[in-house]
Amino acid sequence: MSLVVEQLSIAFDGRRVVDGVSFAVPDGARIGLIGESGSGKSLTALAVLGLLPEGATASGSIRWDGTELLGMRDRDLARLRGDDIGIVFQEPRTALNPIRTVGRQIAESVRIHERISRRDARDRAVAEAARVRLPDPERIVDRYPHQLSGGQRQRVALAMALACRPKLLIADEPTTALDVTVQAEILRLLLDLVRDEGMSLLFITHDLAVLAQVATTGAVLEHGRVVEQAPVSTLLSAPASPITQGLLRDATATLWRPEGEGR
Ligand code: ADP
Ligand code: MG
Repeated sequence: MSLVVEQLSIAFDGRRVVDGVSFAVPDGARIGLIGESGSGKSLTALAVLGLLPEGATASGSIRWDGTELLGMRDRDLARLRGDDIGIVFQEPRTALNPIRTVGRQIAESVRIHERISRRDARDRAVAEAARVRLPDPERIVDRYPHQLSGGQRQRVALAMALACRPKLLIADEPTTALDVTVQAEILRLLLDLVRDEGMSLLFITHDLAVLAQVATTGAVLEHGRVVEQAPVSTLLSAPASPITQGLLRDATATLWRPEGEGR
């Protein structure tokens, strides 16, 4: 199943913040959307899921497996989010309910698309926690989000996104809030899961070094427009647009920054 976005525009009060964006995520492909903060990456992802904020209007076309998603009824979009498309965001804290154990939250995500008994729910949550390589899954499912580290919380968010066995995973800056070591672990995990289970990936980032680790092709956004679309190897070796060249300089600077100097 493929995602095809054509001439997507998003405006607030007539102010266009996404302007004629086109790209595709073919079945099994790993595609990146990259750009500076405010370039329209998150809104593009939210439009795919039918989760645009109040006041936003969208035009163009977003097709999933040939079906038009723009203008689709909320009920059908909700079903699609449960069955076909999973999402993880930058800040797992906002995706998690602070007053419920992570095991219950994972089980609820499973239950959105599968009938499981209350008894089986806990076992299933443990299995899903193990799948995202959380340590000591038997015990961690009974903890609350604040008792976990940032990296562990992001693993929980990933477990919830993957509980329904989506065919496409959208990851919006999933590691941006984490420190570099944890970031590398989460990227590794995400890539392993996507590959092992044959999912497609739409990965959003402002960091070309991160993009290079997970995606094969990148679309570069600037002020809501795609200014360059190329294999990641080309973006790294021969970036055509000034914005991509700037992103490459930023990425290289990160690589060379001595240990201990903050980002
Ligand atoms: P990115 O994810 O690339 O950092 P976003 O897609 O979140 O950027 O936002 C793109 C632009 O859209 C922002 O620069 C902002 O001006 C505008 N925008 C985002 N959300 C809203 C909103 N709820 N109301 C008005 N403008 C918004
Ligand atoms: Mg964003």
